[in-house]
Amino acid sequence: MVSLICPACGKKALEEGDKLSCSSCGAVYIKKDGIISFTGDAGFYEGKFQTTHCEKKPRNFLNKLLYRCYEIFSVNYAQQRIRFIKKNLPDRGEILDIGCGGGIEGVARPGRTVTGVDISLPSLRKAICVYDRAVQADIVSLNFAGDSFDGIIASEILGHLESMKRVKVLEEIGRVLKKEGKVIITVETLGALRRKAEKTDRDLYRQYLVEQYGHFGLREPRQVLSEIEEAGFIVEKCKGVFSYWWPSLQMLEAFDNEYRKKDRKIGRWVGIVRIFSGKIWLRELFDLFCSVICWPLELAAGENDPNELYLVLKKNGKG
Ligand SMILES: [Zn+2]
Repeated sequence: MVSLICPACGKKALEEGDKLSCSSCGAVYIKKDGIISFTGDAGFYEGKFQTTHCEKKPRNFLNKLLYRCYEIFSVNYAQQRIRFIKKNLPDRGEILDIGCGGGIEGVARPGRTVTGVDISLPSLRKAICVYDRAVQADIVSLNFAGDSFDGIIASEILGHLESMKRVKVLEEIGRVLKKEGKVIITVETLGALRRKAEKTDRDLYRQYLVEQYGHFGLREPRQVLSEIEEAGFIVEKCKGVFSYWWPSLQMLEAFDNEYRKKDRKIGRWVGIVRIFSGKIWLRELFDLFCSVICWPLELAAGENDPNELYLVLKKNGKG
C-alpha cells in the first residue's frame, strides 16, 4: 500500500496500530475507527454525501440476470457514473478515490488496493467498509509521495471547488499519479439546463442549484476541458451526459420549488417528475423513457450541451 506522508514535514509516516507516526518530526496522528485523520473540520460536508454505492448480490438465476441487465442498461444518475468509473479504472495496482464519500463497492478487489480520502468522518466510516484504507483530509493537499497511484477517481468533486482550489486539486492529482496512470473524472457542468435555470432566475439558481449541493465550481463543459488540459492532462475519453434534451430525474428534482412557476417548460417537467419520483422502479422507468425519447432529439440538435462530463485522463508527459 502507498505510504502516507506527514502533513507537518512531508516525510514518510508509519502506521502502528491505532496511530500514524512521522519518522522524521515525530508528529503523531490518531486513527478514529480505523480512519487516519489529518483534519477535524468538515464544514459544509459534515454528514453529507454518505451513501455507499452498493452492489446487490441476488441469489437466484432470474434475479441475477435481471440485476445484471440493470447494471448494464440503467441510465440513472448514479448507475451511469459508477459504470463509467468501473469500466475505465485500471484492473490492477494502487487506486486513490478523492472526495470518496461512502465509497463504491466493487472497486476494491483482488489486485487493487484502494485508498479513499474525504473531509467527512461519517462518510469515511462507510468507505472503510468497502475500501482498504480511509484518510480524513482536505483534498487540496494529498498526503502521498509523487508518482504513487495507477488510478485516481475524482467523482463529483471539481464542480464543488472554487477556481483556486480546483487548480490545486488538479495539480495534486498530477503529482501523485504515476506516469502511465489514469484519472477518472466525473464533473458537474454549467450545461444547457443549468444555464437556462440561471437565466430564468439568478437568485433561485444560486439557492437551489448551487448552494444546496455546494456546487461552487460549475463551469461550461468547454471551460472544464481547457482547465484540465492546462493542468497537464490529455483527455483520452470524454462523454457528456444529462443534456437539455435528456436530463436525469435527479437533476430535475432540483427544480421542484419556486422554479416551477418561473418557467413553463421546467414546470411541466417537474409535474411529470413528481409522478415518477415515488418508487425506485418508477424512477428507473422515467430515466429509461427519457433516454429513448431524447436520444434522437439530441442527435437532431447536433449537440447535447451536457450538465455533466465523464472523463478519462492521462498525464501529457511534459510536466
Ligand atoms: Zn513529520
